[in-house]
Amino acid sequence: IFSKLPKHKTSIFSVMSKMAFEHDAVNLSQGYPNFETDQRLKDLVTQAMNEGYNQYAPLAGIAPLREQIVNKIESLHGKKYDKDAEITVTDGATQALFLAITAFVNPGDEVIVLKPAYDSYEPAIELNGGVPVALQLKGKNYKLDFEEIKQKINAKTRMIIINTPHNPGGNVFSKAEMQQLEQLLEGTDVILLSDEVYEHIVFDDAKHYSASAFPELSKRAIVCASFGKTFHNTGWKMGYCVAPEALMKEIWKVMEVNVFCVHHPTQRAFAEYLRTPKHYLELGKFYQKKRDKFLDLIKNTAFKFKPAKGTYFQLLDYSEITNEPDVEFSRRLIKEYGIASIPVSAFNKDNLDHRQLRFCFAKTDDTLEKAAEILKKVK
Ligand code: PMP
Ligand code: GLN
Repeated sequence: IFSKLPKHKTSIFSVMSKMAFEHDAVNLSQGYPNFETDQRLKDLVTQAMNEGYNQYAPLAGIAPLREQIVNKIESLHGKKYDKDAEITVTDGATQALFLAITAFVNPGDEVIVLKPAYDSYEPAIELNGGVPVALQLKGKNYKLDFEEIKQKINAKTRMIIINTPHNPGGNVFSKAEMQQLEQLLEGTDVILLSDEVYEHIVFDDAKHYSASAFPELSKRAIVCASFGKTFHNTGWKMGYCVAPEALMKEIWKVMEVNVFCVHHPTQRAFAEYLRTPKHYLELGKFYQKKRDKFLDLIKNTAFKFKPAKGTYFQLLDYSEITNEPDVEFSRRLIKEYGIASIPVSAFNKDNLDHRQLRFCFAKTDDTLEKAAEILKKVK
């Protein structure tokens, strides 16, 4: 059978979560919280259903939600998007990414992807006939190499995809890095696809710098966000993207024939819930406590780490334990010890293996304690 994605393998998230389930392992692999979303938010969805918001929503999303999103971005990043022309509510960030790639990538176009990268980018580019140009972020701390990016930009470069805060690296691009990117893209037609799904999950002295905050970036940027990450409901698959009107018009053409619109009652709920910014403004502190708890619990294990600056993922370096490749070691951790993680090589260019595993700490304290007890036994 002809395949449009001949190299495609089942997502590492599905593979590891399935294995975790089969072996009854503590699952710190796929990124999702194992605690509940706010009851009030659930009640608001039910209320919207009972009030009759059960038919199609407008293509771009309902106006009160778009308004809340516009206000949020303006208050956090100082950029005012037009609620009627520059925003689309989507089926999670994954759909926003797919819409953006489909709207702009033509056969033969090159798209720069910084690895390690979320695993939906490259297949989406390939489905549209585009050519992913994978660049490996440098070292175990995944630093940007602007010189290398500059060298790769040519007349065929249609788009560059960035992700900050970064999954799985746990790093956050600095203001200086965003400014360097701005300088690099100035004068080009390259579209910036900025995946900012962990925008509210930053720690210590780190700050999230959105592409929307930088004029040379925002005029070419499609910024993608995810309510699932922010409101502990990844299964609701709700997110959005913002972009200048000329870009958004093209995204709407794809949205229209793709799903037309997303779940209406959930949009009503978020429109109401977002009126109070407390939850997302405190999310960094909330997850910093979890990160600190996890790191404190595992400080005397044989794993080495540099605390994550953002996201709900922590990389652990196991090079003092074994020289096994990360895929093998992560499988052995599930089967022999009962703990699941993600081998980072799955996201790297040419499966580069730094002997690092990614652990998700969006878990109850009880689960983090169980995980630490297991990790202490691994020597
Ligand atoms: N980008 C990154 C970097 C992610 O980690 C995720 C979630 N796994 C997504 C996009 C997709 O977000 P959503 O669940 O809202 O589709
Ligand atoms: N983004 C999540 C992670 O990094 C998983 C999303 C998915 O399973 N597709 O773990």
